Amino acid sequence: MPADGMKAAMSTVTPAVPPPPPERRVFCNRTLNMRSIRAVGFDMDYTLVHYDERAWEARAYAHVQQHLLDAGLPVAGLRFRPDLFARGLVLDRALGNVVKANRFGYVTQAAHGTQLLDHEAQRRVYSQVWVDLSEPRWVFLNTLFSLSEACIYGQLVDLLDAGELGRELDYDKLVDLVGDTMNKAHLEGRLKAEIIADPQRFVDLDPLLVQTLLDLRQAGKKLFLATNSEWHYTKPMMAWTFAPSLGSADWKGLFDLIVVQAKKPSFFDGNAPLTEVLDDAGTERPVDGPLRAGAIYRGGNAQLVQEHFGLDGAEILYVGDHVYADVHVSSQIRRWRTALVLRELEHEVVQERTFAAEQRELETLMHEKALLEHEQATLRLALQRLEHGAAVPLDVPASPSLLHERLRVLRSATEALDLRIAPMARRSGQIGHEHWGPLLRAGNDKSRLARQIERHADVYTSRVSNLMHLTPFGYLRAARGSLPHDEAAMGR
Ligand SMILES: [Mg+2]
Repeated sequence: MPADGMKAAMSTVTPAVPPPPPERRVFCNRTLNMRSIRAVGFDMDYTLVHYDERAWEARAYAHVQQHLLDAGLPVAGLRFRPDLFARGLVLDRALGNVVKANRFGYVTQAAHGTQLLDHEAQRRVYSQVWVDLSEPRWVFLNTLFSLSEACIYGQLVDLLDAGELGRELDYDKLVDLVGDTMNKAHLEGRLKAEIIADPQRFVDLDPLLVQTLLDLRQAGKKLFLATNSEWHYTKPMMAWTFAPSLGSADWKGLFDLIVVQAKKPSFFDGNAPLTEVLDDAGTERPVDGPLRAGAIYRGGNAQLVQEHFGLDGAEILYVGDHVYADVHVSSQIRRWRTALVLRELEHEVVQERTFAAEQRELETLMHEKALLEHEQATLRLALQRLEHGAAVPLDVPASPSLLHERLRVLRSATEALDLRIAPMARRSGQIGHEHWGPLLRAGNDKSRLARQIERHADVYTSRVSNLMHLTPFGYLRAARGSLPHDEAAMGR
């Protein structure tokens, strides 16, 4: 384009509204035009209602521990360690391990029980093994609800190895024991009764949440709730969460449709009917006639939601925190648009920004190292060719003594560089989580969780109220994806 044309194409208006803070942005895998979205659905737990995961998971852990004690297991001395594991890690039922995998399924970090494996031990175990989540061997930690489960699994593996659990249990059976016990604790009501009795202790309120939903409603979008929680739990938790902003107004008025016990993920591909919940005691009746705003429905399926609103899947945005049950299935089967809520991202983006200057320096040093390694490899090739009487590569002296001398210089330069790189690389790998590093990275690559998200979540963000910054009229464009040959093409 000629210079004049270029000038004419540039905007003469300086943007006057700053972008939202980096940690509060909505990040886009696939282009999303909010104007073409006509209904927005929400999960409740860890989506509309955000829990203090340390407080919640500590209670979940305590209930599971009590069940295991009642079953005669020697777990009285165990304590919940919220920082032991993280969302996105994978349990290995075969070996009693917890692993982090990259997007190809290659294991980059591992712990046996609660003990982290060093690099050599991990390589010995996993150099020929790939994490394929379709195999029953692997259990993906999908949500923040997984933290207590993973912790107690690791601790039970330690006890099993110490010979304290009896012969009938093994690594595989321990996964089921922990999972079944956790489900029991969630279902029996005592755990949830504790949360309902003292929500202040467990729920982290977001003052911008209600305005975010109002903005969407006032822009003409239908809002619905589709939660797996029961009505007797949903009602007090939603009331508590919305009351500070709504005052005496009823939170139910924000939604055009409310579905509890939705049984996601089968909600998205099943054909279960809806029943209407008539009162707090759980009295129900079959649905007769059109669905009504303000009524409470149980069960049902995604097709009924689409029919009720008269919309295609592509006109619905569903927002949830469960990588599989909320976004994988809804996008894969219903072709709904999806937003994944990842609260950990907030802390991680802030940490990454603090580290940004050092990260750039690290990348510069890695680039220098690659150049030095390239020269070393070329000089070794020159020595090999001289040995076999062939011509040495261009720009390289044809003298073995000069080549050896230069190789010595390069080796010591590389060693000096490594000494500078190692601590920086270690710090870079501790962003987000001291042991497991950033949620969406595994080493230099994308993590398995990042792969799940890029496949199934159109956008991801740290909390629902970040949609306020996006606005009901926003247009998110996917960034130009990076490719390994980008740097070469850009002249580096
Ligand atoms: Mg949830």
